[in-house]
Amino acid sequence: MTELHLWLSCSSIVVMTTVLIVGSGPTGLTLACDLARRGVAVRIIEKTPAFPRSSRAKGPNQRSLEVLDDLGIADRIVAAGRSGIVMRKYWNGQHTGDTDPFAGIITTPDVPFDRTYLIAQWELEAIMRERLAGYGVSVELGVELTGFTQHDGGVTAEIAGGDRIEAAYLVGCDGAHSTVRKLTGSSLTGTTNEEQAMVCGDVDIDGLDREVWHQWFDETGGVMLCPIPNTAASWWFQAGPERDAAGLPVPPSLESFQRLFDRHARMPGITITDATLLSTYRVNVRMVAEYRFGRVFLAGDAAHVHPIAGGLGMNTGIQDAFNLGWKLGMVASGQASDKLLDTYEEERLPVAAHTLDITSGRLRAALESVRTPGGGLEVVVTKDTSNLGVAYGWSSLSHHDGDGVLEAGDRAPDAPCHDAAGAPVRLFEVFAGPHFTVLAFGAAVAIDDERVRTCVIGEGGLVDDGGHARRAYGITGDALVLVRPDNHIALITSTPAEITGYLDALAA
Ligand SMILES: Cc1cc2nc3c(=O)[nH]c(=O)nc-3n(C[C@H](O)[C@H](O)[C@H](O)COP(=O)(O)OP(=O)(O)OC[C@H]3O[C@@H](n4cnc5c(N)ncnc54)[C@H](O)[C@@H]3O)c2cc1C
Repeated sequence: MTELHLWLSCSSIVVMTTVLIVGSGPTGLTLACDLARRGVAVRIIEKTPAFPRSSRAKGPNQRSLEVLDDLGIADRIVAAGRSGIVMRKYWNGQHTGDTDPFAGIITTPDVPFDRTYLIAQWELEAIMRERLAGYGVSVELGVELTGFTQHDGGVTAEIAGGDRIEAAYLVGCDGAHSTVRKLTGSSLTGTTNEEQAMVCGDVDIDGLDREVWHQWFDETGGVMLCPIPNTAASWWFQAGPERDAAGLPVPPSLESFQRLFDRHARMPGITITDATLLSTYRVNVRMVAEYRFGRVFLAGDAAHVHPIAGGLGMNTGIQDAFNLGWKLGMVASGQASDKLLDTYEEERLPVAAHTLDITSGRLRAALESVRTPGGGLEVVVTKDTSNLGVAYGWSSLSHHDGDGVLEAGDRAPDAPCHDAAGAPVRLFEVFAGPHFTVLAFGAAVAIDDERVRTCVIGEGGLVDDGGHARRAYGITGDALVLVRPDNHIALITSTPAEITGYLDALAA
């Protein structure tokens, strides 16, 4: 499925595909899964010779879980991950209190995932790769993009060693040091704060309570240890760095991690037995000015980097990819015109700018909180960091002037309903897949378009016996809601012709 042609040209091999994804982190894997399930020929290349075994991001937030649910893997992530971990805070080595940052949330039927799940990034990526393999696509390890040129019909990618890949589109999901970004001439502009540097790593420790996320603070700084699910003794380690005489961060090591632990945790006898992924994390607040360069796109860390406070690094990348996937899929299959691809930047660039603001705000709040006895990282968790409120009201794809509960561009909510036989059916099950969905509240409609599935809520269709669907969508009478493949609302209307008009306009 993934390769269209193979031939020899001079001494190098040229392989054709529709979409070439550079980088197999969470962003690239989300995009690859979404394209592959649409039957789009896709290749995903990764320069490293082996998959990483480092924990890095702490897990998907509520909106990313919805994306991963649409891709059919949220249940596996929920099963492998862990939710509801309590933050245990200490001041000067003394226990000051325990806080569950999600304790106050009220679970509602429109939100199936009401909290984040902790899961090591390597494990999440492994689950995504398995999903991708189910579509017959594997990550090509040890394949590094070194250059590309664009021409009328596509992009020629140059691979280290001399091979070339011809693709209709190329997407740089190649992380903060993105080669693709550099080759476009673009850069991450913004600020870097050396003062707020952190050291992070994966460490092994025995003898600490693994039921809680330990956070020790004092006047001089702090150290945090969060147990990594599905491991016997591994932890996410984060701390302010040791600094040398010139005030520069000391490069992290097993020994420096132990010294930081001893200084802040004050628990003699606890030994860090192993430390991997030793990393100094500088606080960047940076993004690109453009996401699209002809047939080349940037997504994830390649396009934006920001504080980890709020945990939105990986999540923003997953959601970038989900926004781009259906657009690339429809354009590549001739179901939409090239113009649709412009809406990727139109929608996601402002989200990145907002994410820079949110995470900078959460970092300030965290730094303030941990200077006070009893304070901790719970302040980084807010409504914003769920990403459930991300909406594209300003987008040219959002067609509605109404003043209802929901507007075009908003996330389409879930709702538990039943089928005629009484079996439970969630709206998210109806949305799952590469299609648009028309929710027809009240009356049946016939929309003759292969891009759309219609779901009647009312007679002959789903039974909204709890009234959850009508409540979530704010609909009392008859109405049609067109839901995009990425589960945002495209259009709310009572006229079927507006639905077909909307879809026809995508192809114009
Ligand atoms: C130590 C550390 C701790 C972190 N902690 C957190 C956290 O707690 N919370 C949080 O939200 N985020 C955290 N992050 C950030 C998070 O890991 C990133 O936001 C996330 O990985 C971004 O995903 P991505 O797919 O866009 O890029 P990446 O995961 O960086 O993937 C890019 C991939 O592209 C590959 N690549 C690069 N160049 C090429 C090329 N030329 N050819 C082929 N392949 C190439 C790379 O090898 C890499 O595998 C942390 C990061 C680090 C390093």
